[in-house]
Amino acid sequence: MPIETASGQAQCPECFADITLSTVMQNEITQCPGCGAELEIIALEPLTLALAPQEEEDWGE
Ligand SMILES: [Zn+2]
Repeated sequence: MPIETASGQAQCPECFADITLSTVMQNEITQCPGCGAELEIIALEPLTLALAPQEEEDWGE
């Protein structure tokens, strides 16, 4: 499975700030510098962010 990374700007879904990302991978978690929300990179092309799930930290599998 190839490891793909992307760099560029994406918009925070919470506060709509432009966030600059460099060499991020899909499903990586980043934090918005504007509102502090935890964001998950859900797509690389185009770079798309979604709020990361903050509840259920314990994934009991
Ligand atoms: Zn934000």
